[in-house]
Amino acid sequence: MTKRIAILGATGSVGSSTLDLVEAAPDRFDVVAVTAASNVEQLAAIARRTGAARAVIADPALRPALAQALEGSDCRPEAGEDALCEAAREADLVIAAIVGTAGLKPVMAALEAGVTVGLANKESLVSAGELMMRAARRANATILPVDSEHNAIFQCLGDGRCDHVERLILTASGGPFRTLSAAEMAVKTPAQAVAHPNWSMGAKISVDSATMMNKGLELIEAHHLFGLPSERIDIVVHPQSVVHSCVEYQDGSILAQMGPSDMRVPIAHCLAWPERMETAIERLDLPTIARLDFEAPDPERFPALRLARAALEAGGSAPARLNAANEVAVAAFLDERIGFADIAATVEAVLAASDPGAPQSIEQLLEIDAATRAMTRERVARLAA
Ligand code: NAD
Ligand code: MG
Repeated sequence: MTKRIAILGATGSVGSSTLDLVEAAPDRFDVVAVTAASNVEQLAAIARRTGAARAVIADPALRPALAQALEGSDCRPEAGEDALCEAAREADLVIAAIVGTAGLKPVMAALEAGVTVGLANKESLVSAGELMMRAARRANATILPVDSEHNAIFQCLGDGRCDHVERLILTASGGPFRTLSAAEMAVKTPAQAVAHPNWSMGAKISVDSATMMNKGLELIEAHHLFGLPSERIDIVVHPQSVVHSCVEYQDGSILAQMGPSDMRVPIAHCLAWPERMETAIERLDLPTIARLDFEAPDPERFPALRLARAALEAGGSAPARLNAANEVAVAAFLDERIGFADIAATVEAVLAASDPGAPQSIEQLLEIDAATRAMTRERVARLAA
């Protein structure tokens, strides 16, 4: 039976890797929807190639341009947030690969409709973890982690069951600045920050890897996905990115998942789940890798690690505010308006503001998110002046 797939964020890095796998196995998958933020030409080309039933552009003003680009095809052009949500509801499996909190509403729409979600969009889970997990439980929707670390843990747990687990060990590459001093990092440019040694990814997550906020967000992501408290989720730096994460059991046994540093491996796991699919990905050759190194992370040089753990432990609105402040600060760094060290410093300053308490609804969460972004933008403007 073919699986009906919706790819949200089809023009991005995870989106392209997903398309690569889906297009190589046309009998297994039927692409029902593809979406993008604003790149009309690329979205239309993807829709034509995959025979997608609908293409959704997030920016409503671009609907006429999309309709024109799709002329003569069977693909329905749509635009706006409601259309993104509708596309997410109508699939068997949604690959959620939109970057940032922009992905939240479509992910919630899928979960509320009981649709299985392959979740790459970690920001939505960091920001609205309780609300999302509650929605998934209510509708009996499955969340399959696309993020390589969480996918590794999911596999080591035997499909997500957390019986007899002592702790989770999230591995981190340490990013491009792993060995630099704080002073050396402070003068790095966006181009240097996005040049990741092991993974090729979108700009935002690449900067998050350089600050190690990515691992902080993943800590919170792991807490929600697997239900363990902060003190039972460790972070270990592993520069080779071969071991994607581990689970330690009560008896002292540790299971690790290994694989090439290629997002198509965890994506293929989600696409085929609960089965497996063949891929043409280059295999790991252990003698070539020869050695695996592990070291403790350094929260002094990478304050984002400390901030994220504190936000998880504080609870309330702290994770949502951490995420919102980080998105704004990273965008300002990519625009060369603030320096590298200003990212974590900005997040820390914004987090120190008063906590409005845990959001009880998506609407409340989005209010907190908007207020935090406004506060962060003001701070960034002062820094940039
Ligand atoms: P990317 O920047 O390459 O792609 C983002 C996609 O989201 C694009 O298709 C873009 O058009 C769409 N998008 C952006 N803003 C939008 C908006 N406001 N509304 C609707 N669509 C919008 O990002 P990526 O690297 O593919 O990452 C996607 C998500 O997956 C992120 O949450 C990231 O943290 C996560 N992730 C990525 C990787 C990776 O290897 N790239 C690994 C693990 C997790
Ligand atoms: Mg990851």
